[in-house]
Amino acid sequence: MTDICGLTLKKLAERLAELGEKPSRAGIIFPAVYGELADSFDGLPLKQETLKTLNENFTFGRPECLQKLTSDAADKYLFRLADGNTIESVLMKHEFGYNVCVSTQVGCNMGCRFCASGRLKKVRDLTVSELVGQLMYIRRDIGQKLNGISIMGIGEPLENLANVLDFIDIAQYPRGFDIGLKHITLSTCGLVPKIYELADSAAPVNLAISLHAPEDGLRRTIMPSANKYPLAEIIRAARYYSEKNNRRITFEYVMLNGVNDSDDCAGKLSSLLSGFNCYVNIIRYNATGDSPFSCSPHERIMSFYDVLKKHGIGVTMRRELGASVNAACGQLRASSLVD
Ligand code: SF4
Repeated sequence: MTDICGLTLKKLAERLAELGEKPSRAGIIFPAVYGELADSFDGLPLKQETLKTLNENFTFGRPECLQKLTSDAADKYLFRLADGNTIESVLMKHEFGYNVCVSTQVGCNMGCRFCASGRLKKVRDLTVSELVGQLMYIRRDIGQKLNGISIMGIGEPLENLANVLDFIDIAQYPRGFDIGLKHITLSTCGLVPKIYELADSAAPVNLAISLHAPEDGLRRTIMPSANKYPLAEIIRAARYYSEKNNRRITFEYVMLNGVNDSDDCAGKLSSLLSGFNCYVNIIRYNATGDSPFSCSPHERIMSFYDVLKKHGIGVTMRRELGASVNAACGQLRASSLVD
């Protein structure tokens, strides 16, 4: 049996051909699965024989929702996968619409020291069906169109790039989720070769890079991945991505009190990013129970912000959504892990 929710339109057409069916039938099945969120083939305008073949060869993968925590700004969903592993997704309720933050792996091996989400080591990559299933469940739950996707839940998405690319392909399908590339943002801690691969792919989504330090020495103390990929290489790859796809790159910078939040750090960050189509997204740190870090005071954050502005660097401060349901940045699975 093939899980139909793991197939792009092209792969579904190929699979139908293997089964002796017309590949063009994919154009009937795909809108039913992703537009109408059908969970069976019943009622499709297809011959009985074709329906029999479909029923005998395809299943509909669905994650099971174990828990949903809600707040005005964000809802957090805990899903159980077919093998018993659990993942989390967050629905963010913006003024401009609904954005879903999806997880891409069970656990994460990147080991960023400030991150509660990555405390569980990577167990495995999510399948395409498990990626798509997060969108399907949430869209069905809220009964509304989704407006954007953040690929920045648990896991390093570029370690699971092939599946993430198929997921993006499905999410874009106009008679399904219909979410364009400009409304999809992928966040990475900076896996350089994969940044080039994504840049050259058919799905150059918005790219956010977790920087969190303006120098390699400091970055290595909070992000082990910095041992492999120095900042100079990350910036070179980011420039390539930006120029190739005419995209403004976002650099994420979490404010850790007394660690990376000095005016000196802000000055060095400005030098690193000068003359580049990018902006810095300053993130207030969400301290979790046993974290060795705390968030910088408001005045320190504003001073850091001012230094960047003075140097002509575009800078925003991420609106904090979901802290009350432990759905804010770095908090995914923190609470369920300590259960
Ligand atoms: S911040 Fe992202 S890449 Fe780093 S450990 Fe957490 S989930 Fe993994």
